[in-house]
Amino acid sequence: MVRYINVKSRARTEFIDITEKIQEVLKETGIVSGICSLFVPHTTAAITINEGADPSVQRDIQTLLNKLIPFDGDYHHREGNSSAHIKASVIGVSGNVFIDEGRLVLGTWQSIFFCEFDGPRHRRVALKFISDK
Ligand code: ZN
Repeated sequence: MVRYINVKSRARTEFIDITEKIQEVLKETGIVSGICSLFVPHTTAAITINEGADPSVQRDIQTLLNKLIPFDGDYHHREGNSSAHIKASVIGVSGNVFIDEGRLVLGTWQSIFFCEFDGPRHRRVALKFISDK
């Protein structure tokens, strides 16, 4: 069974902390030990696990991505959002987090972020929880 969480972005580029949403869905499954596989079924959004304590880190990542992969460039894609497609490929659309004692196993400063690169939009993230017990 694949589960989904909904994400609503409010800006063209935005990192949204989805850690607690995922933890809530995990709680519903009752799984105490295993793995959570995450997948973003979009071509202009991504997922990353990084510092959640200081929002400056997310801002710095976005600022550098925008500098390296500018919105306007010598792109061929007619939709006009090539930078978003490229950023999504660079960051990646999937990840895995271990589950132990019913909790996502993350470092003290880590959060799971949905990365919007072509917002604002309604998005979703697919989750697969696999129990090893
Ligand atoms: Zn496009």
